[in-house]
Amino acid sequence: MLTVLIVAYLSTKLITKYLTPLERLKAATIRIADGDFSSRVNIDSRDEFEALADSFNEMTRRLRSQFDILSTMAEIDRHILSSLNADDIIETALSRLPSILFCDLISIAKIDPETYHVSDIHTRRTGQDTEIKTGPIKLNMQDVLDLLALQNDVIETSTDGKLSAYLQIFGDMDSWRFLIIPIVVNGTLSSMICLGYQAPNPIPPESRSAARNFGDRIAVALSNAAWEEKLYQQAHYDSLTGLPNRLVLNDRLAQELARAKRDGTQLAVFFIDLDRFKTVNDSLGHTAGDELLTLVSRIFVNCVRETDLVVRIGGDEFVIVITDLHNHHNPMSLVSSIAEKILASLNQTLVVAGHPMTFSASLGIAVFPSDADNAQDLLKNADAAMYHAKDEGRANFRFYSPELNAAALENIKLEQELRGAIAREELRVYYQPKVDLNRRIVGAEALVRWQHAEMGIISPAKFIPLAEQTGLIVEIGQWVLEQTCLWVKACHDRGLGPVRVSVNLSGIEFKRPELVDKVAEILSKTGVNPHFIELELTESVAIGDPKTCIERMHDLKSLGLSLSMDDFGTGFSSLSYLKELPLDVLKIDQSFVRHLESEESSRAIVKSILALANGLGMETVAEGIENDAQFEFLEQHQCHLFQGFLFSRPIPAEDFLKLLEVDSVKESLSKH
Ligand code: C2E
Ligand code: MG
Ligand code: MG
Repeated sequence: MLTVLIVAYLSTKLITKYLTPLERLKAATIRIADGDFSSRVNIDSRDEFEALADSFNEMTRRLRSQFDILSTMAEIDRHILSSLNADDIIETALSRLPSILFCDLISIAKIDPETYHVSDIHTRRTGQDTEIKTGPIKLNMQDVLDLLALQNDVIETSTDGKLSAYLQIFGDMDSWRFLIIPIVVNGTLSSMICLGYQAPNPIPPESRSAARNFGDRIAVALSNAAWEEKLYQQAHYDSLTGLPNRLVLNDRLAQELARAKRDGTQLAVFFIDLDRFKTVNDSLGHTAGDELLTLVSRIFVNCVRETDLVVRIGGDEFVIVITDLHNHHNPMSLVSSIAEKILASLNQTLVVAGHPMTFSASLGIAVFPSDADNAQDLLKNADAAMYHAKDEGRANFRFYSPELNAAALENIKLEQELRGAIAREELRVYYQPKVDLNRRIVGAEALVRWQHAEMGIISPAKFIPLAEQTGLIVEIGQWVLEQTCLWVKACHDRGLGPVRVSVNLSGIEFKRPELVDKVAEILSKTGVNPHFIELELTESVAIGDPKTCIERMHDLKSLGLSLSMDDFGTGFSSLSYLKELPLDVLKIDQSFVRHLESEESSRAIVKSILALANGLGMETVAEGIENDAQFEFLEQHQCHLFQGFLFSRPIPAEDFLKLLEVDSVKESLSKH
């Protein structure tokens, strides 16, 4: 009985000894199957079961670590796919890597691929917050070579090993071991991750391969983010000046307006356009133009606070949004003083393409909520105010007012439409006859007209100044010259004429360096006899450098055509300087002709202009003759040619041909 009891006791003891650990192991296996890797199996039997439990626990730890690694990788992959920015990727790495790579410190730093300066060093130690060091530290050449040589591996080191100088930024870390993971993005060393292990903890062997694996993921993620950032940058920033563009303006202005509405505050929008920017571009070239835009954009940025927004919206046009006006006791005087400051800062000698020069800009201001309550209207009104500032002599600023809106808006609309007018074949050339003493047609002046789809015929007096402001005059002028040459050639081919036809040349066109070549090209292309082409210049051509002006006039004349001075007497030119210019014809301005009967002074001026021109051997043309009295006076004082409504208004080419035919019939009749 005793023996049976002993055997039963021993068997129970033995069964319990074997069963309990087995049950614990079984329960742990079930927990693992449920995805819980946190629990450990505790068996303190000092036998094979304890050894089994230990290896079971080690297996769980590894499984857990691999599981964590996989899920962190999946998270990083998600970030890559959702193309988050570089900061988010760094944050993921900082928060997730220490637990799975069992390190006590992790640090991620940016490396400048050109200077090898390390900056933006984000460091996190176990149980502490992230610490950010921005100050750059220069890597030595050996460090760079080591990082590049081991770009597909990790570098295991300590404070007296590789990269020791860099590791000093973490403080006294004598007993630590480090794993450094070089990150190479698109072939350049872009950053490095540093993992620190405090003694006596060894670096777990799987950490090495996992660390490298992460390095690769992060490289892909960063290159993705960099690419995204580049695309974002390209889409939202102007590549020349680095200023944000219209897209950013739309976003920011909408945000600022929402804020101003909520807080009941004001904000101001400045619309700035450089004065005579085209002249710089045309005379010094595009590189100089680019240089000027870059200089000017820096000046603008320096004139406003960081919270204000400076945007280049295209060409030489900038927009500045001034916010936080409520902090000032008089917001409108603050706005004026900022505008004054901007204009004053431009008023300095800038060196562009090696030439010292001064510039100015015109600035229009619209204020929320008084001038408009939405972004689009604010910009439109600031633009209208800018036009007003330009009209008033440039180099100044104007606040928007509803009255100026109508006129400015029409100008803006016209300017936009004018751009397409040539292509849409809306321009026409009319010809106004010039007659001799016998009222016979001996010449004509080509005058451009714009046949607008809705507004009908628009006078050049309205759109030529606009075309001059925008530079479109160059294209328009060339077109008019070409049409005229073709027409003159056609008249000659039909045996009509000979009439000499004059074409107006704007001061802007005259100053373009390629003018002479362009005119020569048109003359030869159309095959016209240049003897019958005359270019009408205005006194403005001589503003600036008279020497170059005279040279250019000689060059034009050497093409075989004639030159006339239009609207003579209205400009600045003195009679004495007239003789310096190689002119064939002098056109007396119509303002003198108009007042011939009423003003003694006009009669005196006309008489002396005619006497002078005759003395210099120039041909004279009087324009704007509307009645016989004017004609007779001019005739008496030896004016040669006459132009005005008395003889004919400017008329389309076909009508002019009919007049010419009538003239030639009259002529042949008088001969017989
Ligand atoms: P402009 O060159 O002085 O042309 C003479 C202007 O006087 C023309 O005005 C003509 O229609 C007008 N006119 C002619 N006879 C009389 C008259 O008896 N009485 C009155 N009251 N006016 C008369 P339009 O055609 O309106 O041209 C205005 C200005 O526009 C021109 O003045 C010229 O400076 C400019 N323009 C016209 N076509 C061109 C062009 O193709 N290129 C350039 N650069 N400027 C042009
Ligand atoms: Mg003219
Ligand atoms: Mg004229």
